[in-house]
Amino acid sequence: MYFYIAFDKTTNTEYLLYKDMIHKGNIYYSEPMSKCLVVPIGTFLLNFLNTDFEGTGIGHFIRKYCYESIYFLKYPEKKKDGLNFVHLELNEPDYLLNLFQFMRSEKDEFIYMQNLFLKHLNLPYDATIVDNNDIDTANIEPINPNNLEFEKMWDDYFEQKATIALEKLEKLKKDNPKLYAEYEEQYYKNLKNNNDFNYSNLLEINGLINDLSLEFTFGAYYLSGIDLSTHNIPYCFYSSDIGSILAIEFKEFISDKHHTIKKCKNCSKYFIPENLRDIKYCNNIFKDNKTCKQLGKDITYKNSLKNDKLLDMYRKRYLSLASSVSHYGTEKAIERFENYKKDGVVMKKKYLNKEITKKEFGDWIQKNKKQ
Ligand SMILES: [Zn+2]
Repeated sequence: MYFYIAFDKTTNTEYLLYKDMIHKGNIYYSEPMSKCLVVPIGTFLLNFLNTDFEGTGIGHFIRKYCYESIYFLKYPEKKKDGLNFVHLELNEPDYLLNLFQFMRSEKDEFIYMQNLFLKHLNLPYDATIVDNNDIDTANIEPINPNNLEFEKMWDDYFEQKATIALEKLEKLKKDNPKLYAEYEEQYYKNLKNNNDFNYSNLLEINGLINDLSLEFTFGAYYLSGIDLSTHNIPYCFYSSDIGSILAIEFKEFISDKHHTIKKCKNCSKYFIPENLRDIKYCNNIFKDNKTCKQLGKDITYKNSLKNDKLLDMYRKRYLSLASSVSHYGTEKAIERFENYKKDGVVMKKKYLNKEITKKEFGDWIQKNKKQ
């Protein structure tokens, strides 16, 4: 019922526990054991960004990652107590009916999250979805007492902390005014240095976190056959809400300033560049067993040919010789044109394959001038 996510910063690996829906015959059920995705940090976020929530992608995403969690959020009374590993079992019509309902009910939230992440990755996003400040009061959900309690707990915690900190500062001011002055100076300097780091940005991402807890024992991983105790991982997060998991993953991902996500100029999918020099094309196979990066190089090469003056000259000469044939139709003109066509194919190929130099190709074109 819970998602778990743990991060190993030394190896840049994330461990995501989730449950997908499988079926035998007409019975659909959530897998008894959570699956564990072991991937570079940010990969699940990347999958999320590359999901087409307007199209068929949403059904696939829900089935794969969050059918069970959405189901029990909608029908909490159907949760079974006890150590029952198979939590959800549905017949086909029920399964499909709920799937279509979830696709409708979750779509807007998923698209909102996608655009919010894109915004904070400095990628193009739909501002009408994310930056729309008109709150539709008719659609506000009634306040859930559990959420309220959760928020109150945090408020109390931070208030307590803030009170203690203030008391300590007051004492310092009295006991050691010089140290206090230094502290204050440092504080404002830090505040200024952090100006380019936009706190309001993170507030928006934090807003996606409704339900998130810390865990130190890794029991859920152990049950799924993953032993995290040998890794350099102090704790993991868990939540019943996939949005909270994505938000914490996002924060973890951008906390490393080398991390970024770009949009591939060929296939338009989002990808994590291996280094900051290669940010145009992704490394996924696009077609003919070639990756976008390889194809991108071909495209760049072809574009460079478009601006190639010699090839332009070659084409112009071709057209001018062809027009002499149609204008004058003399044998000499026809012969020159036919020779140019025949030899030209070979010369152009040699030039493109870099078997002859620019000068050789240029000289050859010059030689075929109309006399
Ligand atoms: Zn690509």
